[in-house]
Amino acid sequence: MLINAKQMMIDAKDGHYAIPHFNINNLEWTRYILEECQELDEPVILGVSEGAVKYMGGYVTVANIVRGLVQDLDITIPVVLHLDHGTYEGCFKAIDAGFTSVMYDGSRLPLDKNIANTKEVVNYAKDKNISVEAEIGAIGVAKENLDNEDIYTKVEDAVKMKETGIDFLAPALGSVHGIYKGEPKLDFTRMEEIKEATGLPLVLHGGSGIPDDMIRHAIDCGVAKLNVNTDLQIAWTKGVRELLNLDEEVYDPRKVIGAGKANLQQVVKDKVELLRNK
Ligand SMILES: [Zn+2]
Repeated sequence: MLINAKQMMIDAKDGHYAIPHFNINNLEWTRYILEECQELDEPVILGVSEGAVKYMGGYVTVANIVRGLVQDLDITIPVVLHLDHGTYEGCFKAIDAGFTSVMYDGSRLPLDKNIANTKEVVNYAKDKNISVEAEIGAIGVAKENLDNEDIYTKVEDAVKMKETGIDFLAPALGSVHGIYKGEPKLDFTRMEEIKEATGLPLVLHGGSGIPDDMIRHAIDCGVAKLNVNTDLQIAWTKGVRELLNLDEEVYDPRKVIGAGKANLQQVVKDKVELLRNK
Protein backbone atom coordinates (compact mmCIF):
# COMPACT_ATOMS: atom_id res chain seq x y z
CA MET A 1 0.00 0.00 0.00
CA LEU A 2 1.65 3.19 -1.25
CA ILE A 3 0.50 6.27 0.70
CA ASN A 4 1.69 9.73 1.71
CA ALA A 5 3.34 10.27 5.09
CA LYS A 6 0.95 12.86 6.55
CA GLN A 7 -1.09 10.78 8.98
CA MET A 8 1.66 8.30 9.93
CA MET A 9 3.91 11.18 10.96
CA ILE A 10 1.20 12.75 13.14
CA ASP A 11 0.46 9.34 14.69
CA ALA A 12 4.17 8.79 15.37
CA LYS A 13 4.58 12.21 17.00
CA ASP A 14 1.51 11.73 19.18
CA GLY A 15 2.45 8.15 20.02
CA HIS A 16 6.10 8.99 20.86
CA TYR A 17 7.70 6.71 18.32
CA ALA A 18 9.35 7.35 14.93
CA ILE A 19 8.95 6.04 11.40
CA PRO A 20 12.12 4.71 9.75
CA HIS A 21 13.25 6.35 6.51
CA PHE A 22 15.64 4.07 4.63
CA ASN A 23 17.43 5.26 1.51
CA ILE A 24 17.31 2.99 -1.52
CA ASN A 25 19.79 2.75 -4.37
CA ASN A 26 18.56 -0.09 -6.51
CA LEU A 27 15.92 -2.77 -6.94
CA GLU A 28 17.60 -5.19 -4.56
CA TRP A 29 17.81 -2.80 -1.60
CA THR A 30 14.19 -1.79 -2.16
CA ARG A 31 13.17 -5.43 -2.06
CA TYR A 32 15.24 -6.25 1.05
CA ILE A 33 13.83 -3.28 2.97
CA LEU A 34 10.21 -3.94 1.94
CA GLU A 35 10.43 -7.63 2.83
CA GLU A 36 12.01 -6.96 6.21
CA CYS A 37 9.48 -4.26 7.15
CA GLN A 38 6.64 -6.51 6.00
CA GLU A 39 8.03 -9.27 8.22
CA LEU A 40 8.21 -6.80 11.14
CA ASP A 41 4.77 -5.42 10.22
CA GLU A 42 5.94 -1.79 10.38
CA PRO A 43 5.31 1.15 8.05
CA VAL A 44 8.33 2.39 6.11
CA ILE A 45 9.45 5.47 4.22
CA LEU A 46 11.66 4.70 1.23
CA GLY A 47 13.90 7.71 0.69
CA VAL A 48 15.46 8.36 -2.70
CA SER A 49 18.04 11.07 -3.24
CA GLU A 50 18.27 12.79 -6.60
CA GLY A 51 21.63 11.08 -7.06
CA ALA A 52 19.96 7.70 -6.57
CA VAL A 53 17.14 8.70 -8.94
CA LYS A 54 19.71 9.50 -11.61
CA TYR A 55 21.60 6.27 -10.88
CA MET A 56 18.47 4.14 -11.22
CA GLY A 57 17.40 5.78 -14.49
CA GLY A 58 14.88 8.45 -13.50
CA TYR A 59 11.80 9.26 -11.43
CA VAL A 60 9.41 7.07 -13.40
CA THR A 61 11.73 4.07 -13.14
CA VAL A 62 12.02 4.48 -9.36
CA ALA A 63 8.26 4.84 -8.94
CA ASN A 64 7.64 1.77 -11.11
CA ILE A 65 10.22 -0.33 -9.23
CA VAL A 66 8.59 0.48 -5.90
CA ARG A 67 5.01 0.04 -7.16
CA GLY A 68 5.95 -3.21 -8.88
CA LEU A 69 7.59 -4.70 -5.81
CA VAL A 70 4.74 -3.66 -3.51
CA GLN A 71 2.34 -5.46 -5.84
CA ASP A 72 4.40 -8.53 -6.73
CA LEU A 73 5.56 -9.19 -3.16
CA ASP A 74 2.08 -8.60 -1.66
CA ILE A 75 3.39 -5.84 0.60
CA THR A 76 0.51 -4.79 2.85
CA ILE A 77 2.29 -2.45 5.27
CA PRO A 78 2.02 1.32 4.58
CA VAL A 79 4.87 2.33 2.24
CA VAL A 80 5.85 5.92 1.42
CA LEU A 81 7.97 6.77 -1.62
CA HIS A 82 9.77 9.95 -0.62
CA LEU A 83 12.18 12.22 -2.51
CA ASP A 84 15.10 12.97 -0.17
CA HIS A 85 16.73 16.45 -0.35
CA GLY A 86 14.88 17.35 -3.54
CA THR A 87 15.64 20.40 -5.64
CA TYR A 88 12.77 22.65 -6.68
CA GLU A 89 12.53 21.03 -10.13
CA GLY A 90 13.07 17.56 -8.69
CA CYS A 91 10.05 17.85 -6.39
CA PHE A 92 7.70 18.54 -9.31
CA LYS A 93 9.17 15.71 -11.36
CA ALA A 94 8.88 13.27 -8.45
CA ILE A 95 5.25 14.20 -7.80
CA ASP A 96 4.41 13.83 -11.50
CA ALA A 97 6.11 10.42 -11.59
CA GLY A 98 4.08 9.04 -8.68
CA PHE A 99 6.15 9.66 -5.55
CA THR A 100 3.84 10.02 -2.54
CA SER A 101 6.03 12.40 -0.53
CA VAL A 102 8.79 14.91 -1.22
CA MET A 103 11.37 16.84 0.73
CA TYR A 104 12.19 20.21 -0.72
CA ASP A 105 15.66 21.21 0.43
CA GLY A 106 16.17 24.94 0.04
CA SER A 107 18.36 25.11 3.12
CA ARG A 108 21.30 26.64 1.28
CA LEU A 109 19.16 29.52 -0.01
CA PRO A 110 18.32 32.72 1.89
CA LEU A 111 15.41 31.97 4.25
CA ASP A 112 12.85 34.03 2.31
CA LYS A 113 13.64 32.24 -0.94
CA ASN A 114 13.60 28.85 0.78
CA ILE A 115 10.16 29.62 2.23
CA ALA A 116 8.81 30.94 -1.09
CA ASN A 117 9.96 27.86 -2.99
CA THR A 118 8.67 25.52 -0.29
CA LYS A 119 5.26 27.22 -0.50
CA GLU A 120 5.10 26.56 -4.24
CA VAL A 121 6.00 22.91 -3.76
CA VAL A 122 3.35 22.63 -1.01
CA ASN A 123 0.70 24.17 -3.28
CA TYR A 124 1.46 21.71 -6.06
CA ALA A 125 1.63 18.74 -3.67
CA LYS A 126 -1.59 19.57 -1.84
CA ASP A 127 -3.82 19.05 -4.88
CA LYS A 128 -2.29 15.61 -5.40
CA ASN A 129 -2.37 14.59 -1.73
CA ILE A 130 1.41 14.38 -1.45
CA SER A 131 3.20 15.07 1.85
CA VAL A 132 5.98 17.66 2.02
CA GLU A 133 9.07 17.92 4.22
CA ALA A 134 11.18 21.08 4.34
CA GLU A 135 14.57 21.92 5.80
CA ILE A 136 15.82 25.07 7.45
CA GLY A 137 19.26 25.74 8.79
CA ALA A 138 21.75 23.42 7.14
CA ILE A 139 22.28 19.82 8.16
CA GLY A 140 25.99 19.29 7.85
CA VAL A 141 28.16 16.77 6.16
CA ALA A 142 30.61 14.94 8.38
CA LYS A 143 33.66 16.89 7.32
CA GLU A 144 32.20 20.35 8.08
CA ASN A 145 32.84 22.36 11.20
CA LEU A 146 29.62 22.24 13.22
CA ASP A 147 30.58 24.75 15.88
CA ASN A 148 29.10 27.54 13.79
CA GLU A 149 25.87 28.53 15.58
CA ASP A 150 24.39 30.06 12.39
CA ILE A 151 23.69 26.70 10.82
CA TYR A 152 21.44 25.63 13.72
CA THR A 153 17.76 26.21 13.02
CA LYS A 154 16.20 29.14 14.88
CA VAL A 155 12.77 28.67 16.48
CA GLU A 156 11.29 31.76 14.81
CA ASP A 157 12.45 30.53 11.39
CA ALA A 158 10.82 27.15 12.02
CA VAL A 159 7.55 28.92 12.82
CA LYS A 160 7.79 30.91 9.56
CA MET A 161 8.39 27.69 7.63
CA LYS A 162 5.37 26.04 9.24
CA GLU A 163 3.16 28.75 7.68
CA THR A 164 3.88 27.29 4.23
CA GLY A 165 1.67 24.31 5.10
CA ILE A 166 4.41 21.66 5.19
CA ASP A 167 3.66 18.37 6.90
CA PHE A 168 6.97 17.82 8.67
CA LEU A 169 10.18 19.69 9.26
CA ALA A 170 13.88 18.83 9.24
CA PRO A 171 15.62 21.30 11.54
CA ALA A 172 19.43 21.41 11.62
CA LEU A 173 20.37 20.63 15.20
CA GLY A 174 23.80 19.08 15.00
CA SER A 175 23.31 15.82 13.08
CA VAL A 176 25.39 15.24 9.95
CA HIS A 177 25.31 13.07 6.85
CA GLY A 178 28.00 10.43 6.65
CA ILE A 179 30.24 9.12 9.42
CA TYR A 180 30.50 11.11 12.66
CA LYS A 181 33.88 12.13 14.00
CA GLY A 182 33.46 11.51 17.71
CA GLU A 183 30.15 11.78 19.54
CA PRO A 184 27.41 13.75 17.75
CA LYS A 185 26.21 16.86 19.59
CA LEU A 186 22.47 17.34 19.18
CA ASP A 187 20.72 20.40 20.55
CA PHE A 188 17.79 18.73 22.33
CA THR A 189 16.66 21.94 24.01
CA ARG A 190 16.21 23.66 20.65
CA MET A 191 14.53 20.53 19.28
CA GLU A 192 11.93 20.63 22.06
CA GLU A 193 11.41 24.37 21.55
CA ILE A 194 10.81 23.87 17.82
CA LYS A 195 8.37 21.03 18.54
CA GLU A 196 6.42 23.21 21.00
CA ALA A 197 6.44 26.29 18.77
CA THR A 198 5.42 24.56 15.53
CA GLY A 199 3.52 21.44 16.60
CA LEU A 200 5.03 19.75 13.54
CA PRO A 201 6.51 16.24 13.50
CA LEU A 202 10.29 16.64 13.20
CA VAL A 203 12.78 14.70 11.10
CA LEU A 204 16.27 13.73 12.18
CA HIS A 205 18.66 13.44 9.23
CA GLY A 206 22.04 11.75 9.50
CA GLY A 207 20.57 9.00 11.69
CA SER A 208 23.53 6.64 11.16
CA GLY A 209 26.03 6.57 14.00
CA ILE A 210 23.89 8.42 16.56
CA PRO A 211 23.86 6.39 19.80
CA ASP A 212 20.53 4.69 20.59
CA ASP A 213 19.91 6.67 23.78
CA MET A 214 20.29 9.94 21.87
CA ILE A 215 17.77 8.73 19.29
CA ARG A 216 15.28 7.87 22.06
CA HIS A 217 15.85 11.32 23.54
CA ALA A 218 15.24 12.89 20.12
CA ILE A 219 11.93 11.01 19.83
CA ASP A 220 10.92 12.48 23.23
CA CYS A 221 11.74 15.91 21.76
CA GLY A 222 9.43 15.49 18.76
CA VAL A 223 11.37 13.49 16.18
CA ALA A 224 8.91 11.31 14.25
CA LYS A 225 11.15 10.17 11.35
CA LEU A 226 14.74 9.02 11.39
CA ASN A 227 16.72 9.00 8.15
CA VAL A 228 19.10 6.07 7.76
CA ASN A 229 21.45 5.76 4.82
CA THR A 230 25.12 5.36 5.74
CA ASP A 231 24.52 2.44 8.14
CA LEU A 232 22.83 0.50 5.33
CA GLN A 233 25.69 1.22 2.94
CA ILE A 234 28.35 0.11 5.39
CA ALA A 235 26.48 -3.07 6.36
CA TRP A 236 25.68 -4.10 2.78
CA THR A 237 29.21 -3.43 1.52
CA LYS A 238 30.71 -5.46 4.37
CA GLY A 239 28.69 -8.51 3.35
CA VAL A 240 29.66 -8.19 -0.30
CA ARG A 241 33.34 -7.63 0.54
CA GLU A 242 33.39 -10.71 2.76
CA LEU A 243 32.01 -12.91 0.00
CA LEU A 244 34.43 -11.55 -2.61
CA ASN A 245 37.39 -12.04 -0.25
CA LEU A 246 36.23 -15.53 0.62
CA ASP A 247 35.35 -16.79 -2.85
CA GLU A 248 37.50 -15.79 -5.81
CA GLU A 249 35.42 -17.88 -8.21
CA VAL A 250 32.05 -16.25 -7.61
CA TYR A 251 30.67 -14.30 -10.57
CA ASP A 252 26.87 -14.62 -10.38
CA PRO A 253 25.64 -11.03 -9.78
CA ARG A 254 22.68 -12.33 -7.80
CA LYS A 255 25.09 -13.98 -5.38
CA VAL A 256 27.41 -10.97 -5.22
CA ILE A 257 24.68 -8.37 -4.62
CA GLY A 258 22.76 -10.78 -2.40
CA ALA A 259 25.77 -11.24 -0.13
CA GLY A 260 24.91 -7.93 1.53
CA LYS A 261 21.25 -8.81 2.12
CA ALA A 262 21.43 -10.29 5.62
CA ASN A 263 23.57 -7.43 6.95
CA LEU A 264 21.31 -4.80 5.42
CA GLN A 265 18.17 -6.44 6.78
CA GLN A 266 19.74 -6.64 10.24
CA VAL A 267 20.23 -2.85 10.22
CA VAL A 268 16.60 -2.41 9.15
CA LYS A 269 15.41 -4.67 11.98
CA ASP A 270 17.57 -2.95 14.61
CA LYS A 271 16.42 0.53 13.59
CA VAL A 272 12.74 -0.47 13.42
CA GLU A 273 12.94 -1.94 16.91
CA LEU A 274 14.74 1.13 18.25
CA LEU A 275 12.22 3.53 16.75
CA ARG A 276 9.19 1.63 18.08
CA ASN A 277 10.27 3.09 21.42
CA LYS A 278 8.58 0.30 23.36
ZN1 LIG B 1 19.45 14.20 4.91
